[in-house]
Amino acid sequence: MKLVCCDLEGVWIPEIWIKVAEKTGIEELKLTTREISDYDVLMTKRLSVLDRNGLAMGDITDVIATIEPFEGAFELLEWIRERSQIIILSDTFEEFARPLMKKLNYPALLCHSLEIDPSGKITNYRLRQANQKKHAVKAFKNLNYHVIAFGDSYNDTAMLKEAHEAFFFMPPDNVIKEFPQFDVVRTYGELKDKLEGML
Ligand SMILES: [Mg+2]
Repeated sequence: MKLVCCDLEGVWIPEIWIKVAEKTGIEELKLTTREISDYDVLMTKRLSVLDRNGLAMGDITDVIATIEPFEGAFELLEWIRERSQIIILSDTFEEFARPLMKKLNYPALLCHSLEIDPSGKITNYRLRQANQKKHAVKAFKNLNYHVIAFGDSYNDTAMLKEAHEAFFFMPPDNVIKEFPQFDVVRTYGELKDKLEGML
């Protein structure tokens, strides 16, 4: 049995924090794991930036509601789901992803969650598990699945290494250079061709 595991942001939808930064005009929210490699430091900073700017969950949800999946994402996900099980493994939060999942016809998604107080302020975040993408692939392998994985960036590389077959989708150049062992696919057309040969 084959199972496809893939990333969310940068694969099916744009980076959520970048969009929030653009729409709110808060430049500091553009920082990603490329600038601050420690995820805990980065998230603590993001939450303090939100607090300082008086932004609550509702403000973020308003921005997220305006984000659209990449063109062709819906159709390609449907195509994959007709041929295989697919599980999206993401480092985003359930509360952020929910409005976007509707636009992708609710594929299975495993990610993290936020703590929100009654006033709507985001007070903390809860990682479901550290390095969850890798652990999820490992668990699926233990269930005798043959795992095919793809993602676009650093936070996917442990998942890619753990999978039976893996490749990058639309990665930045520095990631390609650092992980030359993985093939690179750049468009949904190429992605479909690649999966057609695997599924
Ligand atoms: Mg990504």
